[in-house]
Amino acid sequence: MIKPGDTVALALSGGKDSTALTSVLSCLLPAWENVHLIAITIDEGIAGYRDETVRAADELTAALGIEHHTVSFQDLFGNNLDTFLVGREREACTVCGILRKKALAVAAEQYDATKIATGHNLDDEAQSVLMNTFRGDLPRLVRDAAQENACFIPRIKPLSFTPEKEIAIYLMVNNAWKVLPECPYTRFALRAEVRRMLTKLEYRHPGTMLHLIETKKKIERYCASVHVSEPIRRCRECGDPCSTDLCQVCRIRHSLDR
Ligand code: SF4
Ligand code: ZN
Repeated sequence: MIKPGDTVALALSGGKDSTALTSVLSCLLPAWENVHLIAITIDEGIAGYRDETVRAADELTAALGIEHHTVSFQDLFGNNLDTFLVGREREACTVCGILRKKALAVAAEQYDATKIATGHNLDDEAQSVLMNTFRGDLPRLVRDAAQENACFIPRIKPLSFTPEKEIAIYLMVNNAWKVLPECPYTRFALRAEVRRMLTKLEYRHPGTMLHLIETKKKIERYCASVHVSEPIRRCRECGDPCSTDLCQVCRIRHSLDR
């Protein structure tokens, strides 16, 4: 995933997965030839939640001596997430996810990153497989962000085969476990329901999550020879690569203006 000459921009939310990934990469990478690690935190502007995790990210990077930059929705998009979501809280995770991905890409480019590393774990990946299946979204199911295309800085997910439980244990034995607030919009998230369901299934039928990932990989291999995604085009407004004539970020901007 990481090669000599890479500058890895680590998406550090301050939560447990990205904290574990920061800790692992900061142990490994100094011994690697010509690899540079920076951490980027996106501050969406979520009251009662994000300030504390941004503080945790600041403390962690200061303790590990990692270059750290925080980029806010306010600076990039002109407002914070809480304001964008007034009256449309149920769309929180969709709006947040699209704008955060854009913010991360902008920051990674600004700091000359060649890879973006995220802390997604096995549970997250299995949840995404089910969510995309429930939505009937085959292109998104098979479009692994790690393999997107030459228009984007490649994304890597070093913990994507590590169960969430093992990450929690890693943090506990390394004395790095912190109790942090939960995002207030979690209650609207489909992911939260899928997570509860999958956790129960994994407990009763161990291996369920891994099997879901394996199924996804098989579908990906099959789809590699079949056309399932739209060809890459350019957004008519911002010029970003996208599959239609208007990218998701510009769509959200228009809907927020209404
Ligand atoms: Fe954003 Fe949803 Fe995650 Fe909250 S739970 S940080 S709104 S994606
Ligand atoms: Zn656009």
